[in-house]
Amino acid sequence: MRRRPASLRTQLVLTLAGFALVVLSAVGWYLGRLATIELRDAQQVSLGAAAQAAADLLATELRDREREIELLSQSPLLSDRPLDAPVVRETLQRRQALHEELAWLGIASPSGTVLQSTGGLLLGVSVAQREWFMGARERVYVGDVHEAKLLARLLPEQPNGEPTRFVDFAAPIMDAQGNLRGVIGAHAHWRWITGIVDSTLKQRRGAGLDALIVDREGRVLYPEALKRATDGVPVLPAGKLTSPMRWTDGEEYMAAEARVLARTRVDLGWRVIVRQPQVEALRPARLLRNHLLLLGLAVALLALLAAWALARRLSRPVEQLARFAQCVETAREIPEMLGASGAREIAQLGDAMRSMAGSLLETERRLQAANNSLEQQVQARTAELRTANEALALQAAQDGLTGLANRRGLDQRMAEAQALYQRYASQGGRPHALLLIDLDHFKQINDRHGHPVGDEVLRRVAAQLRQSVRGTDLVARFGGEEFAVLLPGCASPDEALAVAEKIRTGIAATDFAVAGRQTASLGVSLAATTDTSPAELLRRADEALYEAKRAGRNRVVLRAT
Ligand code: GH3
Ligand code: MG
Ligand code: MG
Repeated sequence: MRRRPASLRTQLVLTLAGFALVVLSAVGWYLGRLATIELRDAQQVSLGAAAQAAADLLATELRDREREIELLSQSPLLSDRPLDAPVVRETLQRRQALHEELAWLGIASPSGTVLQSTGGLLLGVSVAQREWFMGARERVYVGDVHEAKLLARLLPEQPNGEPTRFVDFAAPIMDAQGNLRGVIGAHAHWRWITGIVDSTLKQRRGAGLDALIVDREGRVLYPEALKRATDGVPVLPAGKLTSPMRWTDGEEYMAAEARVLARTRVDLGWRVIVRQPQVEALRPARLLRNHLLLLGLAVALLALLAAWALARRLSRPVEQLARFAQCVETAREIPEMLGASGAREIAQLGDAMRSMAGSLLETERRLQAANNSLEQQVQARTAELRTANEALALQAAQDGLTGLANRRGLDQRMAEAQALYQRYASQGGRPHALLLIDLDHFKQINDRHGHPVGDEVLRRVAAQLRQSVRGTDLVARFGGEEFAVLLPGCASPDEALAVAEKIRTGIAATDFAVAGRQTASLGVSLAATTDTSPAELLRRADEALYEAKRAGRNRVVLRAT
């Protein structure tokens, strides 16, 4: 079975809404992807800038501390005065007060004994084996981060519970002759360094943003949590936009690094890495994508509504046209239902359909009318024909002048009677009798009074004959002035003779007005079982009639067989 196609309205709605959905999805996807790529690149640049800013600030701060310790070592106070003088200690105390990052500031003798120190810590203790002391005997020293050893027990614990760590700055103190008078050293808190890095990040907004400080060998110096995971730092391609990487904690990060170019005499080789979980970095893109998705859905919904409205507008007149056509087909009349809705073309189509339906129905009505009148004509003609045929049939068996049966009618009845008699004679069926009646000297009437009078006599005789016999008997005009009477079922020849006699006397007693009196001769015969055809009965009646004429006319003669 052929599937019925979907309605125009459904097709329009599905097509338009589907189109809108596909286009909007494609545009949304493309914009979302574009935004993601843009944002990732921008984020990468921003991370790079953050790392660079932190590294630069760190470098500047390290350089400043280095300079400061160098300047301090060269100050006249330290090069001229005895290093254990109280004024030297005051200077150190002031310095420490100015720089809260300094945990300890002290001066050791050339042999390594601490001569002066802030807070009097480690006085008299030997630092000869300390790296800073050894490193700074000849030049300014900046040392990598290390855990506090001697001071660990003397200083209060770190607020975050981490071990106390320092970055050391130290410089030799020389006299005017260039001889080593001592070494000045400073222990700066490691948290000062990490604070610098973190402070630069705080200025930047970004969820999950954190910074790492990595040493030359790639070990994590900060934060503490990542310190043990020495393999936790992927190698970042420097100076390039890198795609997100999976770190050992399983999360994907976007990251950028910058070298800390301290311009100090000693290059620590540190790197600052700034990283951000990709989820956080791309959150705005995700938000944008979600917004685009929502917007797309809203627009698709609007498109669906618009498509529905449009489809309704387009399909309603078409549906109306369909209903119109159906109405014309079933009710055979033009309904009043075509509104003015729809497009101009639809309105034109509606008008065209209306006029076409009108002319079709008109033609149909005309055809119907023509058909009806044709049928009536045919019926009338058929009736006329039937009547004419019946008249013809009647005429064929009837005599025109007297209205009696004619010779043909007589022959027909004689044949029927003969057949019946032949069929029932053995069962006691009665024979039929034939009377032939010939008017005597009829020629003279024509001759004397003219044909019309003769005709009138013939008509009157015919009427009289009809009255003289029973309804079942047949009276026929045999020809000219001769008549015949067929009597079916005669009990005996006498019965036939009696009828013949009655006829003869009836005619003889009649006054035919102008024609006067008139007589007739009759020949009578009865059917015999030996007859092979009606002609034999006729022949015998004719012979009897001849005999009656010869015997003087106006009489009845029977010829039985
Ligand atoms: P017969 O006693 O021997 O019968 O003499 P007849 O004159 O009657 O016999 P015939 O056969 O010589 O004449 C018959 C006449 O009947 C001849 C004809 O003019 C007349 N006749 C036959 N048919 C008609 C008819 O239809 N109308 C009129 N008016 N006369 C007829
Ligand atoms: Mg005759
Ligand atoms: Mg005659």
